[in-house]
Amino acid sequence: MARKFSMDRRAYLKTVGAAGTTAAVAGCLGNGGNGNGNGNGNGNGNGNGNGDGNDVIVPGTASGFPPFEYTQDGELVGFDVDLAEEAITRAGYEVGDWVDIEFDSLIPSLTGGDIDLVAAAMTITDERSEQIAFSNPYYEANQSVLVSSDGDFAPEGESDLEGQVIGAQSGTTGAAEAERLIEEGVVDGDDYRQYDNYTLAVEDLENGNVDAIIIDVPVANNFADSRSVEVAFVIETGEEYGLGMRQDDDRIGDINDALAEIREDGTYEDLVAEYFE
Ligand code: GLN
Repeated sequence: MARKFSMDRRAYLKTVGAAGTTAAVAGCLGNGGNGNGNGNGNGNGNGNGNGDGNDVIVPGTASGFPPFEYTQDGELVGFDVDLAEEAITRAGYEVGDWVDIEFDSLIPSLTGGDIDLVAAAMTITDERSEQIAFSNPYYEANQSVLVSSDGDFAPEGESDLEGQVIGAQSGTTGAAEAERLIEEGVVDGDDYRQYDNYTLAVEDLENGNVDAIIIDVPVANNFADSRSVEVAFVIETGEEYGLGMRQDDDRIGDINDALAEIREDGTYEDLVAEYFE
């Protein structure tokens, strides 16, 4: 089933790639065509799939974070979904069935062995790196302050958040920024709402139950396109997203090689064009 999605995505990439990089198209076809996913001819990822039980990588994510991971017609889709499947396949492994859970549960599920890889726009932080390993960075982002576009509240900087109710998704770097604002005395601790997912936070923003939410810029922009919300200002956090794996899982080397290849042959650009432009 995962294989089928993989092929469908390749068919798509072939179409969009036709206007641009033929190398990417050739690479994709070669890879998908031989049916074992390790036919890149670069030597990485080989020696897997030899019956040692190590050949399937079960990916996990937390949907409701468009365009990185979201559901469309009941199907899990998004930049991270395609990127992770492409990386896993090119690295010579099989994509297991996706596990879609709350963001806060991803690291425990990974360390507990329920999933093998986190693809959830997860920022590489020192704290998380004590528990899990991250791939090389694949995306850069800052935080933003998102407000309703129907109301009068238009903060221009952090000090304008004084006396306001703010929210973020639990366990995120956005939540860490909210907590910093509380520590700095800008926002009252009682005026902080934590959500299981950002979709609920955006709904509360539209309903006027919260005045501002702190959320990654690319996702804020996506919500702003489709909902009655807008980015008021950006908090420059300089974050980088990585795929997460267990610290003792040495398959991460193959994943990093695959990520590099995905960038080099134009596939990465195709995915950016598909999901961000
Ligand atoms: N990049 C943010 C973090 O790592 C948010 C990720 C998310 O909500 N999926 O905390």
